[in-house]
Amino acid sequence: EQRNPGQPEFIQAVAEVMESLWPFISEHPRYAEHGLLDRLVEPERVIQFRVSWVDDRGEVQVNRGFRIQHSSAIGPFKGGLRFHPSVNLSVLKFLAFEQTFKNALTTLPMGGGKGGSDFDPKGRSPGEVMRFCQSFMTELYRHVGSDTDVPAGDIGVGGREIGFLAGMMKKLSNKASCVFTGKGLSFGGSLIRPEATGYGTVYFAEEMLRHAGKTMAGMTVSVSGSGNVAQYGIEKAMALGAKVITASDSSGTVIDEAGFTAEKLAVLMDVKNVHYGRVSEYAERLGLYFEAGKRPWHVPVDIAFPCATQNEIDGDDAAMLVRNGVKCVAEGANMPCNAAAVRVFEQNGVLYAPGKASNAGGVATSGLEMSQNAMRLSWTREEVDGRLLEIMQGIHRMCLQYGTRPDGTVSYSDGANVAGFVKVADAMLSQGVI
Ligand code: NDP
Repeated sequence: EQRNPGQPEFIQAVAEVMESLWPFISEHPRYAEHGLLDRLVEPERVIQFRVSWVDDRGEVQVNRGFRIQHSSAIGPFKGGLRFHPSVNLSVLKFLAFEQTFKNALTTLPMGGGKGGSDFDPKGRSPGEVMRFCQSFMTELYRHVGSDTDVPAGDIGVGGREIGFLAGMMKKLSNKASCVFTGKGLSFGGSLIRPEATGYGTVYFAEEMLRHAGKTMAGMTVSVSGSGNVAQYGIEKAMALGAKVITASDSSGTVIDEAGFTAEKLAVLMDVKNVHYGRVSEYAERLGLYFEAGKRPWHVPVDIAFPCATQNEIDGDDAAMLVRNGVKCVAEGANMPCNAAAVRVFEQNGVLYAPGKASNAGGVATSGLEMSQNAMRLSWTREEVDGRLLEIMQGIHRMCLQYGTRPDGTVSYSDGANVAGFVKVADAMLSQGVI
């Protein structure tokens, strides 16, 4: 805390991982040598810069841009950019730290990074978003590259923004590679990348349920958020026979006991992706019940997929979910459950998957986009989806390997933390003190 004052999210993420790792490191003390842990919690490089741009009224706006290059031990820095007013150094350092372990779990050669800005895209015109993205790139371009650091999307950065960022990258670098993943299909993007995080989270939950002798078919599901991860999580959960009864955003929660259908999901996607609107507008268009200002955790369900943002489930929310009979919680977002919530789930026999395991499908498919770009060819939907499923099943196996307790139950958080750590730590130990 003394080294990182005013960075509560970063300290929270490091403390949770270290608590998980401690028993393993006590048994394998070589992982505490050569200053390994001290080096692991210090980002390799932190970049902060000014982003100035002119809004539609002709006024100058100034935002803060960041890139955290946390670890390149196993490959180029890799992780998304987030545009949201809550972005600060602490949030991005926590995300870059988590990303390092997540990327290791995918088994693909990617290090960990994260970046973004406190820019708020809500209410901004397409022209303003483009000018902001272009200004952001005039600094970021010198720090990224296909073998150095490969950014992608996150909250507030979807296909439209990646297009603007990658376009400016190409202009400034005079290289067609564009560096980013999550690109449009017409300029090097991969099929299934938009779907990958949501699909992967649901695939992971199905693996957990199967290991426990259950299946998702026939279960009720709550989803928080209504952005990229939430939308495709809803789609895949429906495809596996579950009934999804909530979605949300910062305006509140829609509760639909009849459950989502393909037609309703298409309306949600239109509201969110075409009109950049609110969940309340979705509820209004379909005449559904909407609770302003509320999150979905009081709604009784078998499975919860938190897919909005960090710290959206606290100990009380978790206790309510448990009282209402929840069996499985898989994180689509990064660190949506705080430490108290995770304790409640793990102590009550709920199958709980941390984001670094369950939402790794997005970055894994970004890794597959990098492979396709390097080979200058494109795989089919089936090929990419098949690889995504295999990767999620592989991550599940690693969690079992390192997270199975003596009584046969599984701590997926311990499993994911130790498995990711071992890979990054072995690479760091091989490369000497750098
Ligand atoms: P989007 O911008 O597409 O959607 C974000 C959703 O979360 C929106 O519904 C948004 O509502 C809501 N939200 C964001 N911040 C808050 C907040 N402070 N309070 C309440 N609601 C909020 O982002 P993604 O779907 O891409 O990302 C969602 C989560 O998944 C994030 O934690 C991200 O890090 C994680 N993730 C994303 C991956 C990806 O491939 N996109 C990969 C791995 C993890 P509103 O519009 O009202 O703000």
